Amino acid sequence: MALKTAEEFRESLRDGRVVYMDGEKVADVTTHPKLKVATDTAAFDYELAEMPEYRELAVVRDEKTGEEYSRYFHRPKNGEDLLKRHELMLVASRLNYTTTPFAREMIDSFNGCVVTAHAMGNRDYIERTDAYLDYLRKNDLSLAGAITDVKGDRLLRPADPKQSHPDYYLRVIDKNKEGIIVRGCKAHITSPAYLNEMLVMPCRNMTEADADYAVAFATPVSAKGVIQIVHPFDSHRGPLDFPLDIPVRSHTDSLVIFDDVFVPWERVFLCGEWQSAATAVYNFAYLHRHTAVTYHIAWVELIVGLGAAIADFNGVTKAPNIREEVTELIIYLNTMKALARASCIDYVMHGDLAIPNPVTANVAKHYYADNYHKVVKIVEDLCGALLTTAPSFRDWQNPATGNFMEKYLGGRAGASAEARLRILQALRHYPCLGTELDVNNIHAEGSLMAERLTIYSEARKDLELYKQLANYLAGNVKMSWEEYKQLCGELSKLGKGESQR
Ligand SMILES: Cc1cc2nc3c(=O)[nH]c(=O)nc-3n(C[C@H](O)[C@H](O)[C@H](O)COP(=O)(O)OP(=O)(O)OC[C@H]3O[C@@H](n4cnc5c(N)ncnc54)[C@H](O)[C@@H]3O)c2cc1C
Repeated sequence: MALKTAEEFRESLRDGRVVYMDGEKVADVTTHPKLKVATDTAAFDYELAEMPEYRELAVVRDEKTGEEYSRYFHRPKNGEDLLKRHELMLVASRLNYTTTPFAREMIDSFNGCVVTAHAMGNRDYIERTDAYLDYLRKNDLSLAGAITDVKGDRLLRPADPKQSHPDYYLRVIDKNKEGIIVRGCKAHITSPAYLNEMLVMPCRNMTEADADYAVAFATPVSAKGVIQIVHPFDSHRGPLDFPLDIPVRSHTDSLVIFDDVFVPWERVFLCGEWQSAATAVYNFAYLHRHTAVTYHIAWVELIVGLGAAIADFNGVTKAPNIREEVTELIIYLNTMKALARASCIDYVMHGDLAIPNPVTANVAKHYYADNYHKVVKIVEDLCGALLTTAPSFRDWQNPATGNFMEKYLGGRAGASAEARLRILQALRHYPCLGTELDVNNIHAEGSLMAERLTIYSEARKDLELYKQLANYLAGNVKMSWEEYKQLCGELSKLGKGESQR
């Protein structure tokens, strides 16, 4: 079968899947007002493969058969393959207005099963994973990865009788000649509402008692018994925003219920081998941490650009404190980029599959996530309070108020008020910065810099005393015992409201 067009991909989603959103059953995810946004976001993966200039990056040709298939379905054999995959994800995210299509990035979860099958030396699983990969390639499918269980009491194991029911982790409830029947629920699963297949695997290590929970398999999203409840995401572009001429991109996540779902044996990749559950999930995670940091680079490029642009509109680019803040943003972005690439270059082999260096890939993802809120704070600081207090586009359109906004909300000479307001809107729209509470906490009653300036000027006398102490103890100045006692007395008054400034 040939590669699918984006339209054929959309058509493949009209398959009777059971999806609920906002209290209603969704008739067609490709036309539903909200899910259409997410479907279009994923469909970009197929569009990219049709663009001549990106064809070579997005599509791989089988040397023996000449058949073409998505690069996501190519098993990386070395660092070069990993770097091409890295480049594909990054290019797709950039072109897709900074949002990853997420149509097949979750091949990471399947590759976790492949590595596990080889590590176990299990011929059945190796043959089944080979056959499934072939099926994905030939039918040019998309897939989600369903790993996270709802878990119930997190300190209890899946099979612990103290759990209030046995289905907090997905498990096998029956087996027969044809296959297995599974029951359970996976949470926060990105995009199965608008993709073809789901790869399901355990989210943790298992003990012998948990053997029924050690199960991995692939299933069509439309299989009988699969029920999705999608969270009511908002695409963050309301009627009060300045109109933008670019498509809205966004994803949503499903609570996926497996209400006694049948899975044929040829799609089962782990069943009862509890010792291998951890191998599967760790191998998925090694790959997926690299995927995550890669597609977030496109996102962070936008955040850095918006932060630098608002500083420019405010006319403060040359101020040392602003330069320092923008430099922090650049360090953040470039560290992410360097770590993501380094994890490909320093790849390790798991069987015949190259995976990004597990330590570096995890350092990259950890660095990105651990510092993200610091970066948000910097950008919100750069914006000032207007990020949250700006009047709306309707006020801009109203002749009674629009002129005042134009006159008073401009920044440096030559920068229009509209352009400045649009940068702030973009920050609210794309990375969802600037909630009232966030900005209030940074800017209300004075910005962070206003406080720092006051602290410095008010503490000058304190500093003089600290310097006297330092110079005396360093031997630079002489002091009598009485003078030293007096200095200590002055020091003890500091911060108690007794000292005169
Ligand atoms: C936007 C988004 C998209 C996602 N997409 C997917 C997806 O496509 N597929 C998928 O499978 N998952 C997905 N996830 C799920 C993600 O992997 C989980 O959120 C993550 O693993 C944490 O699990 P949890 O949310 O259940 O939190 P919890 O596990 O409940 O963690 C909450 C807190 O409790 C702590 N904790 C939990 N258990 C223990 C314990 N035993 N001992 C001590 N501390 C503990 C944690 O460290 C954490 O601090 C997504 C999540 C998000 C936010």
